[in-house]
Amino acid sequence: MIPPVPYALEINRFLQRHHYDRVEPKAALIDMDGTLYDSMPNHTAAWYRMMSEQGIECQRDEFYLYEGATGAATINKLFLRAYNRNATPEEVESLYHLKTLYFQEQPPVKPMPGVKEMLEILKEIGMRRVLVTGSGQNSLLNRISTDFPDIFETEMRVTSRDVTHGKPHPEPFIRAMQLARVKPSQSIVIENAPLGVEAGDKAGAFTIGITTGPIPRKAMEDAGAAIVFDSMPEFAEKLPSLILSLLTVIKEP
Ligand code: CA
Repeated sequence: MIPPVPYALEINRFLQRHHYDRVEPKAALIDMDGTLYDSMPNHTAAWYRMMSEQGIECQRDEFYLYEGATGAATINKLFLRAYNRNATPEEVESLYHLKTLYFQEQPPVKPMPGVKEMLEILKEIGMRRVLVTGSGQNSLLNRISTDFPDIFETEMRVTSRDVTHGKPHPEPFIRAMQLARVKPSQSIVIENAPLGVEAGDKAGAFTIGITTGPIPRKAMEDAGAAIVFDSMPEFAEKLPSLILSLLTVIKEP
């Protein structure tokens, strides 16, 4: 008996939904916060402190759900809820600046366990790598080439400065596909948050969700993840067999 191809079910479900005959993995479009770096606890603490100081009622954990959105989008979401209006551009600028300061006051952020192994595998098998983040936070962006040497070429980055619409809009990933010169069916997206997963799936990429914090896997499945892994080390371990399966599985008629 021929053993079943790992993940054949998930891959086929994805092919059917997007009307692709196959996935031809050539580029990995990779999120930063919560994926490369274990930075989300610091971000949520900074958001919570800044908003609470403004007298805006909020919960620390709710900021996990806005992960991937631009700073402006998050500020407007809370302004609409509290004041029934968007923040002015000046308010966005000063509040995001304050949030950035509070983020920098937090203890240093570490790379996510398992992520270096994962990136090395992508590099070894010759996949192009593009960083795709809603962040414009220089304290992390400036560390990328030191923490992950020879992984991301300088021009292979999409940050909040390069797009009009942040995640969950597909624009950041579409931009990344253009940079890597690949089609949607030649891309995989690596994400840890529902808004990012939604953006990746809308852009047409095989989108992989990885739970690295309190966001439940169901939230990523509902957002359109083709497959969800329970941790970064688990994903790194399964990545070679997933890629092999992507190369093997063709849409069932
Ligand atoms: Ca993220």
